[in-house]
Amino acid sequence: MKKTPLAAAALLALLGGCGSAGNDAAASSAGAWITVVATTPEVADFVRNIAGDDVTVTQIIKPNVDPHEYEPTPADIQAISQAKLVVKNGVGLESWLDQTIQSAGFGGAVVDSSQGVQRRKGDPDDAEMKNGDPHIWHDPRNAKIMVSNIEKGLAAADPQHTQVYAANLTSYTAQLDKLDADNEAAYAKVPADQRKLVTNHDAFGYYVDRYRLTFVGSVIPSMDTSAELSAQQLTDLVAKIRATGTKAIFTESSLPPKTAEAIAKQAGVKVVGGEDALYGDSLGAAGTEQGTYLGAERHNTQVIVAALGG
Ligand SMILES: [Zn+2]
Repeated sequence: MKKTPLAAAALLALLGGCGSAGNDAAASSAGAWITVVATTPEVADFVRNIAGDDVTVTQIIKPNVDPHEYEPTPADIQAISQAKLVVKNGVGLESWLDQTIQSAGFGGAVVDSSQGVQRRKGDPDDAEMKNGDPHIWHDPRNAKIMVSNIEKGLAAADPQHTQVYAANLTSYTAQLDKLDADNEAAYAKVPADQRKLVTNHDAFGYYVDRYRLTFVGSVIPSMDTSAELSAQQLTDLVAKIRATGTKAIFTESSLPPKTAEAIAKQAGVKVVGGEDALYGDSLGAAGTEQGTYLGAERHNTQVIVAALGG
């Protein structure tokens, strides 16, 4: 049902009276240039870097939460209703967003950070993946396109501060270039026939393409996280790991490691997990180095290169 502005206003008044944690954004936005809602931890980190300290950024999906299974909350609706700008990853990752924006009565601009990114093929049988693989940020060159889109969106929403956003874009883009160059240098030390990756779900396609790794398989055989290996697929994956001489299975911070551990045991390879789990769909805790895109991606490369013998 499409809400009338009046109904939306009434809903907001109601939500506003709850005094929930969702009021953080409203409370802290006094004096801020604008308030921006960003969906995923990656996109929110990009917005914080380009927007700077004078913009209030509300991040919807918290660290180490599976974005493929996300269900929006009343606090999300409230945050969007109070925002000037909404920024999303795009490529179907936020299947819940359009409805949430409508419920919030939000009429502002939505930045699709994936605009102009060349998409890897998705999964035609999966409603959320049929338009492409959404894990675009794992190639720093895509991240550069994403932050450029974000900068344009910020400048349009807040023309008074375009120079600040442009300067932040320049310096952050240089950091993304540095990340990309450092990753390349790190992989140059791993022999080509050792660059084999088995991950928890199929989140690293762009990364694999960028740094010329071989994707052997994943514990969850999908770009989504809800699929499960059949007994036959499990046997096949174990055989493939053995046949290819793959050294390790990498778990992810936002997914349980149990099946990965079972497969590794059968295949006789190690599991890289715990503190070394990869950031496939998420970033680390806020305030830590790995709570930033740059820190999380550096962690991934460091862990993979070390396990593959670089
Ligand atoms: Zn994913």
